[in-house]
Amino acid sequence: MCIFCQIIADEIPSYKIYEDEKILAFLDIKPVHPGHILVIPKKHAQNIEDVSEEDLTAVILGVKKMGKLIKNNLNYPSYNVIENNDSAAGQEIPHLHFHIIPRLENDGLNHWSHREYNPGEAEEILKKLKN
Ligand code: 5GP
Ligand code: ZN
Repeated sequence: MCIFCQIIADEIPSYKIYEDEKILAFLDIKPVHPGHILVIPKKHAQNIEDVSEEDLTAVILGVKKMGKLIKNNLNYPSYNVIENNDSAAGQEIPHLHFHIIPRLENDGLNHWSHREYNPGEAEEILKKLKN
């Protein structure tokens, strides 16, 4: 059983914030800022392709609920919603989870670097995507 399935089953302790029949929201053990929340489907799924549309809908609605709590109850002005999809993207726990990371103005967390498209590159990508 994966570590998050063990958390769902209460075999590993966690700080649970909200649960219903489909999802669980709990505190990340190593927060970026205090109040960093993870929202997961109760039925094990590895990633976004793997999860059912019904469970994904429940999870994203849970993310919306938790975002409200971060703003209203913890008084953060903002938050990031992040889902690391597979190991190359930084997914360490192979059970789908959305991070809700509280943010403060000028908290020193930088956005990813990005770049302009080279000439013709966007058209190539678009062709592949629409193929
Ligand atoms: P990932 O890199 O897979 O997107 O993120 C996994 C997250 O799970 C990390 O932020 C990490 O701190 C958190 N985490 C790992 N193990 C545990 C645990 O046993 N309990 C809780 N509450 N969070 C965990
Ligand atoms: Zn699992």
